Amino acid sequence: MIPAASLSMQPRRWQLAWRDAVRDPRELLGLLGLDALAARVPDAACAQFPLRVPRSFVARMRPGDPADPLLRQVLPLDDELRPAPGFDLDAVGDGAARAGRGLIRKYRGRALLVATGSCAVHCRYCFRRHFPYAEETAAAGGWRDAVSAVAADPGIDEVILSGGDPLSLATTKLAELTRALAPLAHLRRLRIHTRLPVVLPERVDDELVAWLTTLPWPVTIVVHANHGNEFDTDVDAAMARLRGTGATLLNQAVLLRGVNDSLDALATLSERGFEAGVLPYYLHQLDRVAGAAHFEIDDARALALHAALRDHLPGYLVPRLVREVAGDGSKRPL
Ligand SMILES: *Cc1c(COP(=O)(O)O)cnc(C)c1O
Ligand code: SF4
Repeated sequence: MIPAASLSMQPRRWQLAWRDAVRDPRELLGLLGLDALAARVPDAACAQFPLRVPRSFVARMRPGDPADPLLRQVLPLDDELRPAPGFDLDAVGDGAARAGRGLIRKYRGRALLVATGSCAVHCRYCFRRHFPYAEETAAAGGWRDAVSAVAADPGIDEVILSGGDPLSLATTKLAELTRALAPLAHLRRLRIHTRLPVVLPERVDDELVAWLTTLPWPVTIVVHANHGNEFDTDVDAAMARLRGTGATLLNQAVLLRGVNDSLDALATLSERGFEAGVLPYYLHQLDRVAGAAHFEIDDARALALHAALRDHLPGYLVPRLVREVAGDGSKRPL
């Protein structure tokens, strides 16, 4: 017999998969039969923001294809080191919008809680690649500061768990937070922004499902997939389990050169997501963060792609094309 206490300390299956992620660019390229590409992976880019990608995500990449849309999202390339005017360290003004440890207040009614700085995958275009989130996470100090800040502001009706990836925290840790938030009468909705159900579907285990089922608020889960190939049967099963908790599932994507900048890729992303029970929410113009300039699509082309998508799909499969502008009261439609 294993005593219950020591059982709860056992790493979960998803945590083992997390730790087993590929972190060496040479190993990644070797797995895909692309060893020659290693010459284009500079140590400096890896030092800035290390490679990290779960093995199940690698398994969804096409071997032998240097242009694979999933590989492009995670492989550090020399393109990142070319200086690009207008691409900064704090592209979305998060530095100015901090409202206490781990809480970002930008929009009416909503508070974004930076639950943790960690992610299971490192996306090269991510605006968080330079932000000191590790020092700003709300989980530090048992959530006390973040919970007090939410409690003190009756204008907050929705808390958004974000990060990093909030589901990188143990479920017991998440439950600790929601227990502390539950007594606050002004909270009416909970939202979770997470890429984990897509990149590490093992994360959606019985324990997570049980936690979601007991929450006292309607829950929205905004996942993040940029290409239809990110969905497979394991991801479908994870989404089905999330939907089974009663949560609303939405997707946000980033418009990325060489990943999804075609009508076909964007339409397939919406259609494939819908098959998994996920509706499109936002299609973001890239945040102009240093190191990501080679992913940028200019506004004229973004608008043309979006117009083509509107002509191609039912309205409910067309995401809102937006950009985040520091100081605005909402995401700004293009
Ligand atoms: C994007 C964002 C939100 C959520 O905006 P919605 O339009 O409600 O999805 C909230 N807070 C911050 C700081 C954000 O960046
Ligand atoms: S999962 Fe989200 S927060 Fe994490 S690196 Fe990717 S885009 Fe950034």
